[in-house]
Amino acid sequence: MGSLPTGIPACMNTNRLGKVEQKTFDVVIIGGGIHGCASAFFLARRGLRVAVLEADYCGRHASGVNAGGVRTLGRPLAETHLTLASCDLWHDLKDLIGDDAGFVAQGQIKVSETDDEVQILRDRVSMLQSHGFTHEVLVDKETVRELVPAISDHVTGAIWVERDGFALPYRAVTAFRRAAEAHGAVIHENCRVENITQGASKWRATTNKGIFEAEYLVVAAGAWSGYVAQTLGETVPVTPGGLMLMVTQRLPHFIEPVVGATSRGLSFKQYDNGTVVIGGELHCGVDIEAAHAELDFSRLANSAKIVTDLFPFLEHVSINRAWSGIEGFTPDHTPILGPSTAASKLIYACGFSSSGFQLGPASGRAVSELILDGASQVQIDGLSLSRFSKATAL
Ligand SMILES: Cc1cc2nc3c(=O)[nH]c(=O)nc-3n(C[C@H](O)[C@H](O)[C@H](O)COP(=O)(O)OP(=O)(O)OC[C@H]3O[C@@H](n4cnc5c(N)ncnc54)[C@H](O)[C@@H]3O)c2cc1C
Repeated sequence: MGSLPTGIPACMNTNRLGKVEQKTFDVVIIGGGIHGCASAFFLARRGLRVAVLEADYCGRHASGVNAGGVRTLGRPLAETHLTLASCDLWHDLKDLIGDDAGFVAQGQIKVSETDDEVQILRDRVSMLQSHGFTHEVLVDKETVRELVPAISDHVTGAIWVERDGFALPYRAVTAFRRAAEAHGAVIHENCRVENITQGASKWRATTNKGIFEAEYLVVAAGAWSGYVAQTLGETVPVTPGGLMLMVTQRLPHFIEPVVGATSRGLSFKQYDNGTVVIGGELHCGVDIEAAHAELDFSRLANSAKIVTDLFPFLEHVSINRAWSGIEGFTPDHTPILGPSTAASKLIYACGFSSSGFQLGPASGRAVSELILDGASQVQIDGLSLSRFSKATAL
């Protein structure tokens, strides 16, 4: 697997006796982010022997450092069934895994700043309704002011989703991981998959912690998924990219919903402790070899400007901290969730393109259904890997 980036730590290849360990499972999952851990939970809950192989520690990358937005609002059409199913799971998370991961359903709102933008939002809602989706609701400027009293006067309207909200990312990954372990899943951290082969009846993943065999393989390796797929001889168009966030000092409570804008990248939310997390498609460069995304302060400053346009009273607030994470992007910014087009018993769950945290629960359940039932109950046809080969064939 020479082409895998080496930024993820590798350690000893052998056990104490100097022998390569070999372990057999029903399913091996590569990646301990929210998708790997949620898949492990749903598979183990239905009785399969599951191993998660995580090169670093669970939640170290995108899943543990993201903005925590739990948003059905503004999704590509192909993702809509999945995002709505996931929203239901977020609302039931405590019953499902014993922890609500700090999820609060305080709503998400995407505001328009001009009359042209009102039309964009109107067209969006009509398009969704023509497909039978009614979760995004158009609201006028008076309603926006009732929902977000602190917003600037120039805002002209919005789309509002009441059941959306936000959660605590690292806690969510940890909760899925613990729930998976409670059902017997085995998590190996600091365990980097270095080579994968498919034999007559089993996949064989070679790692620095030994060899893991399983009938099924799930690739949930986030930004690294394209590289992992390459070693399997398959092209999976997932490209690494960096995303940034910043957080302010604590402020008196002034906002409930998560606020986004129509034509400018913004995601803005206030946590219980008073801090405000600011993000929303804030891209930055990535050194994938070093597993590092570089903060771009000029882009952070632009983002701060959008915030003060919408909330002028925040002009003198300090930014306490900024950070970045590495995400996997597909060409159409829509995830890949489904079987390989080249190999049997191989499932991809990757390419979540900046909004995969919310999708984690339903995506994990879909992975388990693909393996155990041969099909996902929630419609995921538009997320198949084969859409890219069809596009090339046209
Ligand atoms: C700054 C930022 C803000 C975001 N905000 C939001 C948001 O508000 N709402 C939302 O829904 N989404 C958001 N996202 C996107 C979301 O975080 C991701 O889509 C999601 O977490 C992807 O989860 P994952 O499990 O696929 O990947 P990851 O969490 O990246 O997990 C993949 C894991 O695979 C491991 N791995 C890779 N290669 C190997 C190998 N060879 N062997 C073993 N392990 C390997 C990695 O170490 C990594 O831990 C944001 C992302 C970022 C970076």
